[in-house]
Amino acid sequence: MKLTAEHHALYRTTKSFVENDINPHVAEWERAGTWPAHEVLKKMGDLGLLGITKPTQYGGMGLDYSYQVLFAQALGNCQCGGVPMGIGVQTDMATPALARFGSNELRKEYLEPAIKGEQVVSIAVSEAGAGSDVAGIKSTARRDGGDYVINGSKMWITNGTQSDWACTLVNTSDGKPHLNKSLIIVPLDAKGVERKTKLDKLGMRSSDTAMIFFDNVRVPARNLIGQEGMGFTYQMLQFQEERLFGAASGIDGLFNVISETIAYTGQRQAFGQSILDNQSVHFRLAELRTEVESLKALVYQTTEEYLSGQQSPLQIAMLASMCKLKIGRVSREVTDACLQYWGGQGYMWDNAVARAYRDTRLVSIGGGADEIMLGIICKAMGILPSKKQAAAAKAAREARDA
Ligand SMILES: Cc1cc2nc3c(=O)[nH]c(=O)nc-3n(C[C@H](O)[C@H](O)[C@H](O)COP(=O)(O)OP(=O)(O)OC[C@H]3O[C@@H](n4cnc5c(N)ncnc54)[C@H](O)[C@@H]3O)c2cc1C
Repeated sequence: MKLTAEHHALYRTTKSFVENDINPHVAEWERAGTWPAHEVLKKMGDLGLLGITKPTQYGGMGLDYSYQVLFAQALGNCQCGGVPMGIGVQTDMATPALARFGSNELRKEYLEPAIKGEQVVSIAVSEAGAGSDVAGIKSTARRDGGDYVINGSKMWITNGTQSDWACTLVNTSDGKPHLNKSLIIVPLDAKGVERKTKLDKLGMRSSDTAMIFFDNVRVPARNLIGQEGMGFTYQMLQFQEERLFGAASGIDGLFNVISETIAYTGQRQAFGQSILDNQSVHFRLAELRTEVESLKALVYQTTEEYLSGQQSPLQIAMLASMCKLKIGRVSREVTDACLQYWGGQGYMWDNAVARAYRDTRLVSIGGGADEIMLGIICKAMGILPSKKQAAAAKAAREARDA
């Protein structure tokens, strides 16, 4: 990925926003268990940072995804994971499908205010009974005249207590699970929407995470994104940007954890030398740095392949899944090893490495667990046993044994 002066300028603007407008408040927001999403996103919208890849007619910059990667990377300088996650929901998780498939009217009504930072948004896919198995969701939207009537509930929704609307995946018919779903914009002030107070989490403490209940919620049929029945497909496409964003936004944070550990272990003395001077420590830090550099190279390569349009959608899904898998694994490795070198200080709640250790643990679970990424990679490699093959083999075995 060739970085231009514009890429560097965007990176610097975002990083300076993080340093001046986010980091001074992180400790307070972490303690409060929430962040002022409307206030922060409005400032970011004023800087044009929420619509980098979005169409210009709705207030976006219309740039290619490489710029979004630099934006995400700069956000990784936040001293917590919760706030970048909330921002990523706004830019890369709840709005790509609307930007790509929504009607002009819908984009004017919902995308434009999200880009301006006037509205806070959520993506509502997961349910208490279906997280990894997206096809297994139970929430429904039935047509009634000019409306959809929505029933069901959503679990672990980021920005959920503050958002103005949620891009919501629901079943719109009883057909096959990959063909019966739709994405619908649900305004969260609608009658029948109830949000349970934020969930208490291991990490990402400053991000608000809610359960949302829908009890006969009426939404105009025009709030449907694209075609009815295409929601699963749209969501799978939307996940690709989510996964690339997730990987890119983790890179700088890991570099920072390593640098802070070098600084700390360099001055901390034990047995007549600094902790860093033990070969097992500095070699390990060098290995970790190599891992993060490799992850960065993979994210840049995936972005380049995505933009080239030369690869099949499955190949791009494979590369994006590799990025997501790798950031989860590398984050666990880096934060665990570095926390160890901080000793007792690393075990303190407010320690930066301890926070990174807690926050990044989500990466291997949320937005598709590691095992789901491995399944996608295996499928692209042609080594995932298909359910049909397994059923046919079982039937053959049973016939033989009968
Ligand atoms: C802090 C937080 C924020 C979130 N934000 C959002 C949000 O904004 N919107 C949203 O829709 N969702 C959100 N989620 C939900 C998240 O995407 C799901 O938790 C995730 O997809 C995993 O689903 P699950 O929890 O139901 O785990 P399950 O599906 O129950 O899986 C449990 C574990 O089983 C293993 N597993 C699952 N399937 C397989 C398999 N096929 N093979 C082998 N092992 C497997 C994995 O290790 C997995 O972690 C959030 C979750 C958290 C914790």
